[in-house]
Amino acid sequence: MSRSTAKGRIVIAIDGPSASGKGTLAHRIAEHLGFAVLDTGLLYRGVAKRLLESGGDPGDAAAAAAAARAVTAAELRDPALRSEQVGEIASRIAAYPAVRQALLALQRDFAANPLDINGNPLPGAVLDGRDIGTVICPDATVKIFVTATTEARAARRHKELLDRGVASIYARVLQDMERRDARDSGRVAAPTKPAADAVVIDSTALDADGVFAAALAIILERIDGAD
Ligand code: C5P
Repeated sequence: MSRSTAKGRIVIAIDGPSASGKGTLAHRIAEHLGFAVLDTGLLYRGVAKRLLESGGDPGDAAAAAAAARAVTAAELRDPALRSEQVGEIASRIAAYPAVRQALLALQRDFAANPLDINGNPLPGAVLDGRDIGTVICPDATVKIFVTATTEARAARRHKELLDRGVASIYARVLQDMERRDARDSGRVAAPTKPAADAVVIDSTALDADGVFAAALAIILERIDGAD
């Protein structure tokens, strides 16, 4: 039986913790297959930034939910969303069920109606995040969970920051990552975890090409098998 959505669209769910390589993977897969791609972390980061700019308190669930209802697609292009400070606040407000609820329809609509930049329909969508396979798209055609040891992920993030010219201390990055992982995996609302039917890729010893090759093989096998 085909596991694509009602309209025949293929949905690829890519989940995993920070710096696991899931974002790079999602973009490469989407480009390779000609699918639309959504980095759902940017939605939570957009809410966090909106809240910070309006002087809202990240401890106030109602204020965070209001920011989530107001966030626009144009705001998600802001490079400032990539900062560690915004990532930290994003992780805090992502624990509120009302924030997650406010962002749900947008994500499901993206998966059900993938479009190119001119608004023409595409055959599939790739979404990356923490709960795509478990909550947002439980019927996704393929579910992949990318992970790596905390040390490997912290080393990658540290290098990424240095490459961007941002001052960084490895021990601090590791500590921040452990704290964020604990919050994202330990929360009650949509914790980071692989769906029961996800394929897990451990990227600790793989480079981006290795992760891409492993994921593409899994995806092509599923898509061909579903025809
Ligand atoms: O992936 P990224 O680091 O950009 O995500 C920022 C934060 O947003 C994560 O730490 C996580 O708490 C939250 N998030 C989430 N669910 C998603 C994507 C991101 O809770 N699908």
